[in-house]
Amino acid sequence: MSKKLTVAKFGGTSLADAEAIRQSAKVAILHNVSVVVVSATSGTTDELLRLAESLTKKPSIESLKTIESLKIKHQKIASGLKLSAHATKNLDALFTRLNNLALSIIAKDYPSALKELYPSMRHVYRQRIKDIPSTLDGSSLNRYPKRISDHVLSYGERISSVLMADALEKAGAKTTVVDARKIIKTDRNHRFATPLVDEIRFHTEELLVPEVKNGKTVVTQGFIGRAPDSSTTTLGRGGSDYSAALFAEALNADELQIWSDVPGVATADPRIVKNTRQIDLLTFQEAAELATAGAKILYPKTIIPMRRANIPVYVGHTFQPDTPGTRIEKSSSKKPLATAVSLKPKQSLVTLTTEQMSQEFGYLAKIFAIFARHKVSINQISTSEIAVAFTLDGYLSSHAQMLGELRELGDVTIENGMSLVSLIGNDINNTPGLANKIFACLETKDSKIAIRMICQGASKHNFCFVVEGKYGEESVRKLHEEFIGK
Ligand code: ADP
Ligand code: ASP
Ligand code: MG
Repeated sequence: MSKKLTVAKFGGTSLADAEAIRQSAKVAILHNVSVVVVSATSGTTDELLRLAESLTKKPSIESLKTIESLKIKHQKIASGLKLSAHATKNLDALFTRLNNLALSIIAKDYPSALKELYPSMRHVYRQRIKDIPSTLDGSSLNRYPKRISDHVLSYGERISSVLMADALEKAGAKTTVVDARKIIKTDRNHRFATPLVDEIRFHTEELLVPEVKNGKTVVTQGFIGRAPDSSTTTLGRGGSDYSAALFAEALNADELQIWSDVPGVATADPRIVKNTRQIDLLTFQEAAELATAGAKILYPKTIIPMRRANIPVYVGHTFQPDTPGTRIEKSSSKKPLATAVSLKPKQSLVTLTTEQMSQEFGYLAKIFAIFARHKVSINQISTSEIAVAFTLDGYLSSHAQMLGELRELGDVTIENGMSLVSLIGNDINNTPGLANKIFACLETKDSKIAIRMICQGASKHNFCFVVEGKYGEESVRKLHEEFIGK
């Protein structure tokens, strides 16, 4: 019987220190994993984001301190792993490159920075793609902060892949590191790039398949990709899960494994609810709803490729690998009414009110066109005759121009810091009296939680509503107690 083809992703906490990396390598070997996808070590992406901000907003010699402290942190891990000379050389080279990029921006040596940011642009792309800067100058730093940021962030995953590969070698695997940017081709929407699935399959067959056939364990990076202009892109914070799913799809893998710091998917975030239960089996549909509704254990888009290719997913605990985790498959005979409760904090609730909307054709289309032009995705929507309300991730105020365009269509009010609370289950929206039960459990003698917006009916599997941020966790606990904990 031929070997099962498994892709496994290890998140930041699974790579937090030498011990954690050794444990992750052990888990990968135990499961005969062919392709190991790594996140940056715990906390590193946040640090790199700060570095990128300082380099694009106010480059100064201070910025170099962040690189130095990241270097010390990773050298400590390297020494704990007794890193080989070859890997140490690669690690040092990455820090030198990052330092040189920072130095060139600080010293306004833009041609050098440009070479690092667009490695092949001078040969191929300058003719074809108009908005690539032909020279980088101070103003381009302001114009292209996302491109510079994505490039800086990529160092987190590139560094951890060197450490993981060495730990795997030491544990007995024949390993090779493949730069994910050679395979995960994306569009140029930096920070939230869209993967180009056909190109990914082509490059996987060219670069990954031969290594896997030769019995190598491939180590590659999650989160990062490359745009046609040769600049580095990222898939969105937490996007390593999505990368791993894209690799699994392109390889026609038998299984995708997601290893993290919890034993699988639970009925709610264990950090919010104490008596959660482990879910042993979820359908793709339920998992996708849960991930979109804010369950951080899975990046929202992870399930899309898995469902497309019908590849089962296993979510397990890196540090308790024998504790049974969660399987995610096409179908399940288990049909509990409520599977899980989820929270998505930091939502903006935007309400647009205008008399014009009543009876007018195409009014919503105009609103959607504005969001599409600014590449801002809408999470929830609810409409009345003269008003429409949306939720979005983050702060709408950071999209000043878009806000101006919306104001031309009507009165806009924005409430920041809201939370979206979702009850996920099977056929939940065909359950008589469900809304009553939800409202009743949110209203107790000592606290009454006001619901600001409700979404029901669009999905059979999800009932969700928006509350003020300060009530988010309390709502989750109450719903969990009412529908799952009892
Ligand atoms: P990683 O670094 O491994 O990608 P993340 O922090 O992104 O890990 O995701 C794991 C975290 O997801 C857990 O520590 C947990 O707090 C959170 N989480 C949120 N909802 C759930 C849920 N329903 N089940 C399990 N974990 C959840
Ligand atoms: N390192 C990236 C982040 O922190 C991607 C990931 O962890 O999945 O967002
Ligand atoms: Mg994650």
